[in-house]
Amino acid sequence: MVRVRFAPSPTGFLHIGGARTALFNWMYAKAQGGQFILRIEDTDLVRSKPEYLDEIMDSMKWLGLTWDEFYKQSDRFDLYRKYADQLLAEGKAYKEGEAVLLKRSLDKEIMVDDLIRGRISFDISFFYKRDENNNVVLGADGNPVIKDEVLLKTDGSPSYSFACVIDDSLMEISHVIRGEDHISNTPKQIGIYNALGFKYPKFVHLPLILDPEGGRMSKRAGATAVTEYRTQGYLPEAIVNYLMLLGWSPGNNQEKVTMTSALKTFSVKKINKSGAAFSIEKLQWLNSQYIKEMDTVQLAEALVPLVAAQYPETKIQRPELEHMAALYKGRMNTLLDFLDWTDFIFNDQVNFEEEVKSKHLSQDMRKEFDLLADRLSTIGDFNVKAAEETFRAVVAELGIEAGVLVHPVRVALTGKAVGPGLFDTMVLLGRERTVRRLREAFK
Ligand code: GLU
Repeated sequence: MVRVRFAPSPTGFLHIGGARTALFNWMYAKAQGGQFILRIEDTDLVRSKPEYLDEIMDSMKWLGLTWDEFYKQSDRFDLYRKYADQLLAEGKAYKEGEAVLLKRSLDKEIMVDDLIRGRISFDISFFYKRDENNNVVLGADGNPVIKDEVLLKTDGSPSYSFACVIDDSLMEISHVIRGEDHISNTPKQIGIYNALGFKYPKFVHLPLILDPEGGRMSKRAGATAVTEYRTQGYLPEAIVNYLMLLGWSPGNNQEKVTMTSALKTFSVKKINKSGAAFSIEKLQWLNSQYIKEMDTVQLAEALVPLVAAQYPETKIQRPELEHMAALYKGRMNTLLDFLDWTDFIFNDQVNFEEEVKSKHLSQDMRKEFDLLADRLSTIGDFNVKAAEETFRAVVAELGIEAGVLVHPVRVALTGKAVGPGLFDTMVLLGRERTVRRLREAFK
């Protein structure tokens, strides 16, 4: 049975790289009919914070990465102590003050078999103690000093590697799937497996996420915390889709992938070795695709809290919001974009982009605007068809091309040079405001 785990330390928000690790574990479990375990590595009692724990669990649930089992290492200190005592009794570990260290066994080089990288071997020099300039420290006998592994720290808390090995074994983890930054921990942990006589899991080290310049993913390339993407109006489906492409591909250059189809082909062996470049543009594009496909009622539902936060006083009701969602869903990269597109509906005054205003409203069209306003005031039902017919009739009467009037009118009504159909926009805005904005445009 495949049993995998995601083992975050609650010392910060769920990072986009952590979310990718969680996702690959989760996908592997789902693809194999296995189990996904969430294990909180909160052994650092000073840096671990309950608010980070809450945030990590919340972000995982938001992404849909639910777990089958849950553990917290701070509940398991007695267990780590028991194994440390056992190693002390067997003479495999020793004490230095209050810390318990594992004696490094020097008989063989340590091999790590990684499912995507193959065999990686670490010879004994990997364990040499080094000074701050990375020079090997020599002992009194002139030989390099070997660094022994700390198992329990002076305050009685276990080291990351010790707790990790005990838990991965007792929780019967079949595959340890984690970031490449942990490769150097794996040989140390293998030493602990050997000392305890535990069987190793299989190891998979995921490629790093890189920024476009090839450095490690940082704030420069985009937000690093999942929660920031959430507040910026990204959909969980788009983030999950994007994250799965960071190191894995469904083939055929396919980018938009449903989870169901991804799970049919997902395998850890097909994960890339080389770093995966983070591209905010691709994430935005995927997000726009998911928004476009969203059911309008659901989209409006998702927009409610954003609208309420921006316009607490608004009287706009759900049907109107749905109407707006339908008109703008093809133009949004993020949910927040909706607020930029529709400010002219929520606000009494139009917010003109200066450039747009000087381009389209510099020529005085008072006469044309007034005629259009007069005619729009008198039609019966103010619907898209009637608005369009009225507009065409006015243009014909004035003997001008429709295009001459379309752009200035759009700018006068919305402050923007682009948007959905002009007549849809008029109806959205309502007759009264449409007419008023036309009359006031050149005042
Ligand atoms: N707590 C470790 C981390 O946050 C987990 C590493 C592992 O998966 O073994 O990076």
